[in-house]
This record gives sequence, structure tokens and C-alpha cells, in this order.
Amino acid sequence: MRLRHAAYLIAGMIVCAGEGWADLMNMPALTPEEERVIVHKGTEPPFSGAYLDNKAAGLYVCRRCGAPLYRSEAKFDSRCGWPSFDDELPGAIKRLADPDGARTEIECAKCGAHLGHVFLGEGFTPKNTRHCVNSVSMHFTPDPARTEKAFFAGGCFWGVEYHFQRAEGVVSTRVGYAGGHKSHPAYEDVCLGGTGHIETVEVVYDPARTSYETLAKLFFEIHDPTQTGGQGPDIGEQYQSVAFYLNDDQKAIAERLIGILKGKGHAVITQLRPATVFWPAEDLHQRYYEKKNGVPYCHARTKRF
Ligand SMILES: [Zn+2]
Repeated sequence: MRLRHAAYLIAGMIVCAGEGWADLMNMPALTPEEERVIVHKGTEPPFSGAYLDNKAAGLYVCRRCGAPLYRSEAKFDSRCGWPSFDDELPGAIKRLADPDGARTEIECAKCGAHLGHVFLGEGFTPKNTRHCVNSVSMHFTPDPARTEKAFFAGGCFWGVEYHFQRAEGVVSTRVGYAGGHKSHPAYEDVCLGGTGHIETVEVVYDPARTSYETLAKLFFEIHDPTQTGGQGPDIGEQYQSVAFYLNDDQKAIAERLIGILKGKGHAVITQLRPATVFWPAEDLHQRYYEKKNGVPYCHARTKRF
């Protein structure tokens, strides 16, 4: 489900610039599962939603219209199998009698998207309220003031993202293109070469739960930083090994890790380059293996530290 993150940001945003809450627009079309829940008032299977265990700080917005619904501070673990909140943002939620005659349905007040149900008097929190919300009815936007970013290029971005999205403390990932000169590049442009772009993964992480060093070590262990001209079977300039750093700290950490690897005899060719504009890739490339229910052909973890 988090594959939907792809199309949210205004393409071309400078990665170093503050992004604020600007990504509450351009919501992509609903997937069939999202439509089943949001339009036809369905329910996602319990303990299956992408946001059930999400503990990151940020804002939950309506998946269909982008209207803010809940803050992460209102989220709590009810063990009911769906994300639970004990309070909504003012005016964000509309309550309706459910056709079952017993429950109270909740909808996005702005667009009427079905969210779930609200229950009172269960005693979970002092507010005594539980909004039981389908993950697919929402989109989570991490608080940019409480997350940090890293950009890694290590061959086919499908495989690199696969590993980062599973790493502890990673809030979100996106695949895209960086390092080149063409604006709004398409996958085909980058594949043909000549754009200078490199398949890159944007990693948004919670610095309270992981670190740039931990993520950079993972980067050096999920691809071969000694291979020139590409990665695995993928040959071409778009598959180069690059750590795009956002600041001197990230650069120094990456330099130190490369030094450690060289000391162990690895002839690392990974380039350290200052981060440039990151262009998110097309939706079909986001969380590719999750959509295909597959595993990467190109990236497996090899312990090097
Ligand atoms: Zn809405």
C-alpha cells in the first residue's frame, strides 16, 4: 500500500529544501482494494494494514482527497487489528449511523471517503474514544521536522528499495532518479542513457530509531560497491554505486565506512556526491517487489562490517 507514496510530492522539489506538508495533493487514483474500502465501505483484513504498527510522528490524511484527519499523537495500540486513534483533527470526521443499526460509521468530512467506525466507552485512553480506521483509507505523511533523509544508488532501484523499506526506523521510501540534468525524466529516458540520472532510493527515517551510519552500512551490504559499470546483471550509467549526501555529516560517515571496507580489502568504487534534485519515478516502480509479491533478483545482503 505504501507504494502509493510515489506520486504525492511535487516532482522536482529540491531535496535539501524543507518540504513541509506540501505533499497533500495530487493523490493518485484509487487501487481496486482502496476503492472497495473507501467507496464501497469495505473493511481491510485485520492486522494487515500498512499503518497498524506505524509509530512515526506525522499526519494521517484522507487517501482520496488529502484532507488531514488524525495526528500521530492521537494514535494508540488497541490490539484490535486496525489503526486506532482517540481523537480527530477538528472538523475532519463525519459520523453516521451504520446500516447495521449498532455501530457509528466515520467518513472524511471533506469528501465522504469511508474510514471505518468509532467506538466510545472502551476505556483504552482517557478520551475513551477509538476511531478504528482502515489503513487503506489514509495516507501517512511523516513530520519533516522529526525525520531525516538519505539517498542511495546501488543498481536497480527496485532491489535497493526492497531492503531499505524493511529496515528498522525507516518511515518511508521512494524510488526515483538523481544526479542527472534532465527535468522530469521518465524511466525510458533514464534507461536509454544520456540523462546523467542514476536510479536512486530516497529513504526517510526516524533518527530516534536508526541512524545514517546504520543505513549506509546496509547500503554497502545489499549491493556490490566494488562493481564498476553497473550492478549485477544491470549494466549502464543509471546503475552506478553512489551515496548522495545531504550534509557534511553524512559525507564523513560514508567516507569512514568506505575506509573501513578498503581496509578489509574491498576495492570500493562507490562515489560520494552532493544530493541534487530527486525526481520520483513512476508509480509502477514504487515498492515494486511488494506489488509483485516477489524478491529481488539483484540484491541480497552480504555482511561486510
Ligand atoms: Zn477525503
